[in-house]
Amino acid sequence: MKNKLCCTCTNETVYSFYGISDDGRYITTDKAKEKLTYCPMDFASDIVVAYLNIGYFSSKSADTSDLVYDFISKYGMPDRKSKKVNIKDFSEDAEALYLHFAEITAEDYPDKPEWILETDPMSGIITRSNGNIELSWQTAGLSNAIEIAYSLLLCSDTKQLAVCKHCGAPFYAKNPKSEFCSPQCRNQYNVYKSRRKYK
Ligand SMILES: [Zn+2]
Repeated sequence: MKNKLCCTCTNETVYSFYGISDDGRYITTDKAKEKLTYCPMDFASDIVVAYLNIGYFSSKSADTSDLVYDFISKYGMPDRKSKKVNIKDFSEDAEALYLHFAEITAEDYPDKPEWILETDPMSGIITRSNGNIELSWQTAGLSNAIEIAYSLLLCSDTKQLAVCKHCGAPFYAKNPKSEFCSPQCRNQYNVYKSRRKYK
């Protein structure tokens, strides 16, 4: 079965202004000026990998404020109705997804259903176009789209959602065989490997 990242597109909106509250805890928007609208499924792998990376850094207790700000200025608010988002809550949600990803891609994961997709109201729509019968999704918001896209990418045959063998960061492998998130990580891994040999 081929998993499909289709969407009938209830669009996500990106606004031209995002700010940070005085206490540094929230990212805000006045929703005054729309910059663009887009379908999250068109950028599914980029969005999921960026989100998992926020979770990865959060799991290392790193400051994720800049990453969350960049994410929201690029892809919009996780909930369409909201005008502000708590950076810590956002990072913790991303961390929960990252921990699931790290656990299920590790080899000793138990064979039992621990991940249940319980999203906000969401519809799967079956249509027929040009003779093909297709399943597409209508999502309730960006966080909802992330969960669906994550599940479909994780379970796809191509295994392109991967964990870097050197640094442990999640990345999208354009070539399903690649093991490293960057050439730097590949080089460093090989340096350490040859050092280990000479010990
Ligand atoms: Zn890496």
